[in-house]
Amino acid sequence: MEQKQQFSLWFSVAAFVAMLMIQNYFSQGHVSHLPYSEFKVLLAAGKVKDLALTDQVIYGTVIGDSVGGLAGKETTDRLNQQGTGEHPFETIRVNDPTLVQDLEAAKISFSGKVDNKWFSTILSWFLPAIIFLVIWQFAMKRMSGAGGLMSIGKSKAKVYMEKETGVTFGDVAGIDEAKDELMQVVEFLKAPERYRRLGGKIPKGVLIVGAPGTGKTLLAKAVAGEAGVPFFSMSGSEFVEMFVGVGAARVRDLFEQAEQKAPCIIFIDELDALGKARGMSVMGGNDEREQTLNQLLVEMDGFDTNKGVIIMAATNRPEILDPALLRPGRFDRLVAIDRPDLIGRKKILEVHSKQVTLAPGVDLAAIAARTPGFAGADLANLVNEAALHAARAEKTAVDMGDFDAAIDRVQGGLEKKNRIIIPKEKETVAYHEAGHAIVAEARPNSDRVGKISIIPRGIAALGYTQQIPTEDRYLLKKSELLDRIDVLLGGRVAEELVFGDVSTGAQNDLQRATDMVRHMITHYGMSDTLGLATFEEPRTPLFLNVPMPQQQTTYSEQTAQAIDGEIRKMLAESHARVEKTLQANRGNLDALGKLLLEKEVIDREALDELLSVSPVVL
Ligand code: ADP
Ligand code: ZN
Repeated sequence: MEQKQQFSLWFSVAAFVAMLMIQNYFSQGHVSHLPYSEFKVLLAAGKVKDLALTDQVIYGTVIGDSVGGLAGKETTDRLNQQGTGEHPFETIRVNDPTLVQDLEAAKISFSGKVDNKWFSTILSWFLPAIIFLVIWQFAMKRMSGAGGLMSIGKSKAKVYMEKETGVTFGDVAGIDEAKDELMQVVEFLKAPERYRRLGGKIPKGVLIVGAPGTGKTLLAKAVAGEAGVPFFSMSGSEFVEMFVGVGAARVRDLFEQAEQKAPCIIFIDELDALGKARGMSVMGGNDEREQTLNQLLVEMDGFDTNKGVIIMAATNRPEILDPALLRPGRFDRLVAIDRPDLIGRKKILEVHSKQVTLAPGVDLAAIAARTPGFAGADLANLVNEAALHAARAEKTAVDMGDFDAAIDRVQGGLEKKNRIIIPKEKETVAYHEAGHAIVAEARPNSDRVGKISIIPRGIAALGYTQQIPTEDRYLLKKSELLDRIDVLLGGRVAEELVFGDVSTGAQNDLQRATDMVRHMITHYGMSDTLGLATFEEPRTPLFLNVPMPQQQTTYSEQTAQAIDGEIRKMLAESHARVEKTLQANRGNLDALGKLLLEKEVIDREALDELLSVSPVVL
């Protein structure tokens, strides 16, 4: 398409130039140019006729056989060469006020003529335009990578279409939960009619959330591969172009193309680049991004899943996405991928070491144990590094020594990126999380622990203790809030007890505990000292981290001090309670910490098993 258009552009330019040259040739070829002086001589001799005068040129005919010696020698020669008879001529008109009188005196017929300037007129209009076009075309090419003037909007956005991804669920290891969730999508894509008949509800959009390298793209490809459907992929950052409207056109084009190939999958990587909450950027708006995002929303709303197009997207920053993207009918299905745990890492290592020859002594489980925090991509890289190391040493198989070297190498790279934990830190995190869990178990009003993990997720959290609410809550009692605060402090206090030292890891806990206490005092009237009054604080906009104009607080400086004092007092009370609880449960705390270090993830079942030996002291 684009090739052809470029060709025709250049073709018309060439044709135009050729035409001008031909025109030029014919209009000048047979006309003799006479100097004005010679023209005057011929005029005086009555040897010219049929004159036409323009502002600048005089055209006319010389009566040939009588040129004789009147004209200059050269002119005579030239005219004579063309044989006898009448010859057209032209001469440049000079400022000669008496010309008309001379003409009248010689009784020669003459007429005025308007200069035919179409040639120069067109040239003066078209030439700059053509030059401009050429420069523009060149600039467009530079700016958009490959696009040209004629191809704006025609998606050259790298839409990668793979007829067959060739990836199956067998290539994806260690994220079984995510695979299970996507199985339904595969089933649907395989036989859309069957689902349609049964009236099954199919998700339109699936958002895969996970840290970089956890296999989001791989998983999406595997879904396409399992279902045997084409896979359209594009990166969110590629949508957002320099020119307003281009991105939107690309989205339209992408959906058009996909619809023709349905059933199929559209995969948008880095959705956050495109779907950042509107109005969130500091510079004010980004029209182009917003238009593109709007177009995406329009397209998603506009087609129904029955056609068999499923949109998948990946992001590692779901929190900055525009809420509109997550509404029902859009990306309403969320699949979270964590960094793999010990067993997951072993499985991923198995998948990737299929392609290399392993020496007999290689223990993949041991390698998995040494690589906490590694994502799938890091493990793939690890196997590759080990193979390279072996190749450099000209070995026939990859042995444990190669893996050792590779771990050091990859770890070094990752440490810089702050993504993995060194053993000492892992220990701190393990006992910290154990502290949260034990306090949660020892508080009757707090939610039960569902899962404890010391696999880092994201950048901030090194580990987490997941509590499962037993019911939906709309009201919380003071006793429940106090228990929650205790659970939050549990991590910090455990560190104090076990290590006699504290780490920075509790910062988020402390902040949340403080916020909760402050709310109890200022909003819910739950403080004995400050009583039932509520105290308005300056509001900040929900979700958006935008500074608001300074607002007035509604309470005095003294009250502020009293609130601060009360917060400190309540936190200190909580600290004392938690310390007592953890001391009473020291055996369980240590056992749980140790188990976490070993297993990295502990589910409810394993926790019950551990606590069945010696129950938690309330
Ligand atoms: P993301 O899209 O989450 O950044 P990718 O899907 O691009 O990560 O993963 C990059 C590579 O890492 C994959 O091509 C694959 O080789 C490897 N990988 C990641 N996760 C897994 C996994 N769970 N199982 C097997 N290989 C994985
Ligand atoms: Zn914590």
